[in-house]
Amino acid sequence: MRIYCDFDGTITKTDTTDHILERLAGPSWLDLEDDWLSGRLTAAQCMRGQIALIDADQATLDAVLDSLEIREGFADFVAWAAEHHRPLSIISDGVDYFIKRILRRHGLGHIPIFSNHLVINAARYHLEQPLARAGCASGSGVCKCSIVAAQPTAPTTVFIGDGRSDFCVSHRANLVFARDKLATYATERGQAFIPFNDFRDVQRALSTHLMNAAVSANG
Ligand SMILES: [Mg+2]
Ligand SMILES: [Zn+2]
Repeated sequence: MRIYCDFDGTITKTDTTDHILERLAGPSWLDLEDDWLSGRLTAAQCMRGQIALIDADQATLDAVLDSLEIREGFADFVAWAAEHHRPLSIISDGVDYFIKRILRRHGLGHIPIFSNHLVINAARYHLEQPLARAGCASGSGVCKCSIVAAQPTAPTTVFIGDGRSDFCVSHRANLVFARDKLATYATERGQAFIPFNDFRDVQRALSTHLMNAAVSANG
């Protein structure tokens, strides 16, 4: 079993980037959002433009990041996965700097992360997207499906997510935990998924899955 987990809206309760933009960027970030939603920009282009609109020094940015909450049970779930030797990575179309700062605050700075890369230079912000892939249906800065495809395969690939950037990768997982837009999407295409509210739900379901797998292996 390999576990892949989205970050924004999945591990965090709200979208970190949207929260930062609401607090620290001028209102024109919403125009870029409209351009993305109406198809004039890709998700990747939209996000590069939005990040460049952040108008705050790094201490202010850090203070806003330090106000963000993560979902119930995530730290325990990470410990559970380590104890059972199930590799867990975060695959996010968010921003590495934001993710690492939030995780470190919860003692979780060791989790591998695939995401966009923020370059900070004298309170100017620039987003690099080394994991984008032309042709990915998500149009995101991070092509989640090709990242999963490049990892070692496992009998069970678990994906936990909530949003549009998770659509492409959810096709590659054989155990999908979904909420919000990803749950709607999976329902529409008839893909089985497990709904979750927080990580206690995820851990409970995966424990049961491993127990059932052990029983059928012995039987
Ligand atoms: Mg998300
Ligand atoms: Zn993709």
